[in-house]
Amino acid sequence: MVSLGTPLSPSATRVMLLGSGELAKEVLIALQRLGVETIAVDRYADAPGHQVAHSARTITMSDPAQLRALVEAERPDVVVPEIEAIATGTLVELEAEGVRVVPTARAAQLTMDREGIRRLAAETLGLPTSAHRFCDSLDELRAAAAEVGFPCVVKPVVSSSGKGQSTLAGPDDVEAAWQYAMAGGRVTGTRVIVEGFVDFDYEITLLTVRSVRGGETVTDFCAPVGHRQEAGDYVESWQPQAMSPVALDRAQAIAAAVTADLGGLGLFGVELFVRGDEVWFSEVSPRPHDTGMVTMTTQWQDEFELHARALLGLPVDTTLRNPGASAVVYGGLDAVGVIFDGVDDALALPGVELRLFGKPESSTRRRMGVALARAEDVDTARATAREAAGRVHPRA
Ligand code: AMP
Repeated sequence: MVSLGTPLSPSATRVMLLGSGELAKEVLIALQRLGVETIAVDRYADAPGHQVAHSARTITMSDPAQLRALVEAERPDVVVPEIEAIATGTLVELEAEGVRVVPTARAAQLTMDREGIRRLAAETLGLPTSAHRFCDSLDELRAAAAEVGFPCVVKPVVSSSGKGQSTLAGPDDVEAAWQYAMAGGRVTGTRVIVEGFVDFDYEITLLTVRSVRGGETVTDFCAPVGHRQEAGDYVESWQPQAMSPVALDRAQAIAAAVTADLGGLGLFGVELFVRGDEVWFSEVSPRPHDTGMVTMTTQWQDEFELHARALLGLPVDTTLRNPGASAVVYGGLDAVGVIFDGVDDALALPGVELRLFGKPESSTRRRMGVALARAEDVDTARATAREAAGRVHPRA
């Protein structure tokens, strides 16, 4: 039996989110709705999740001492990592000392950089992935790129949102790709992965949930989320992405294998490339995925509620309600305290919703909000979401 307490009382069920961006904000809202007491942590003050939690803390989460001190002081029932750049070694220790980490500390550790999860998928689980090599120097990269073949993609092992990533047409591009990767990692480091370019028809995120039902851990899948990336960052997503039955079966089998190995309870975003009936594993987030924001307008329970329910040991329902799409609203300028013009025009479009994340500072390519559209079909939803996002104009 699962029981939940009363927030801000001795009986409270207390959950700490490590990372308080737009995805954490929605998880926090879902937890708040169930009367869970929430603690939001981020590296800067007034992060989106800070604004909706019972309490807000600002620390450097990649610093083991700071992370340990905070968890020991707050004594949450559950710790939920929402970003990759965390001292995951400390999470492993804390878990061994009895702190529950979602889905598991090992999952956070393996997915913190591209190498752990890629080795698990390709070598341990034998899943189909792009050809790949890991390199620590320009010379190694030259040799590895030649082995993998052109075109290929180079990415810092520690990075996200396409930072430091480039596609190489031939050997002449190697040096620039190396320099760009060195400048672009989110956390300093010199290791890169070079991957053979997969000429996919489309790419999806298969949102996969591990939850408890009738005393058993079960795995459920959401309808596939299709998405389009620019420079390694998601610009629009939609659900459902049409797939052949064979490709869908393969995608679900890959997602089931990866999430079963990572274990624990919660929602995972499994990124896959698809060409015809062929499916390649790319990456997995052991937490809600940015492309999955579309589920806020397409599912009865969006990915955030699914994560919240699953981690609390509650049952979930991944049923699609209607087709829909999401389109990112970028900052477009460097400024503090931006003003969003055109919100009324955006919301005047049929079936449109908007999320403005409340980030204190904007930069040109920073994701400041997302437009959501529901419609009879995905094509209409995509066009409407894009139109809505385009009607929102951030200014200083
Ligand atoms: P990632 O940060 O690894 O998720 O990469 C960001 C995006 O770059 C992916 O969603 C793809 O659109 C593209 N991409 C990454 N790796 C490859 C690859 N090996 N082949 C083709 N496209 C890729």
